[in-house]
Amino acid sequence: MSHGPLPNHIGLYGHAVGEGSLGAFRDCLARFKEMGYQFCTPGELANEPDGRWISLSFDDNYRNWTDLMAPLGELGVSATFFVNTLPMVSAGNPGEIDAYYDRIEYFGERLPLTWDDLLDIEAKGHLIGCHGHAHWPLSRVSFDAAAVDILHSKSLLEAHLGHQVKDFSFPYGMRRFFSRRLRTFCHNHGFTTIVTGIPGLQYGRKDSLWLHRTPWDFDSPIDYNLENLLVDGRIFHAVSGRSAVG
Ligand SMILES: [Zn+2]
Repeated sequence: MSHGPLPNHIGLYGHAVGEGSLGAFRDCLARFKEMGYQFCTPGELANEPDGRWISLSFDDNYRNWTDLMAPLGELGVSATFFVNTLPMVSAGNPGEIDAYYDRIEYFGERLPLTWDDLLDIEAKGHLIGCHGHAHWPLSRVSFDAAAVDILHSKSLLEAHLGHQVKDFSFPYGMRRFFSRRLRTFCHNHGFTTIVTGIPGLQYGRKDSLWLHRTPWDFDSPIDYNLENLLVDGRIFHAVSGRSAVG
């Protein structure tokens, strides 16, 4: 594992950010801005623009994302929200919503976004991407079931937002939960960016259809998170097929 300077182009992601972590969240954004980073969409990051850039994104579906709007707005930062649509169409079906949060092992406040929340997030300058409908491990269901889940989610988002949705984050983020065939399928069905959750690969050339993101833990100190970013796991990953970060 070698350490160098921080990469110029960074994909970061998180999930829910609890109320107690909002201060740490704000500090983290401020620190990156002090270091000269600007914020962009995943598609823009894949083009490796000159300078230092971060694409910050969030996965799943949490009502408490609306609490991020104030710190993001205050610091002028735009983020991307990759949304599962099942929790929104299952409003009024607590069993399905519980099963969804069980699947993603989230035991905080189990409140999904509403469609109005989503429109509001977009109106504040953020990008909405697709994270599939139900958060299935897509490589472990049939290809047809995975295809239906992805397209159902994409079309629901597009119907509510009134425009195309072109950015996709596949559930669970690791290589073993997706496939080359599904990647081609997504590309053929209008997705121009596919992001992973594979950490330790921020130094490589960017590929818009396989764009790596390192998780950011807002409950841990900034320096711990920066250490994770400094890991250059390219060799480890190529040899082991596993992630270099725990
Ligand atoms: Zn997820």
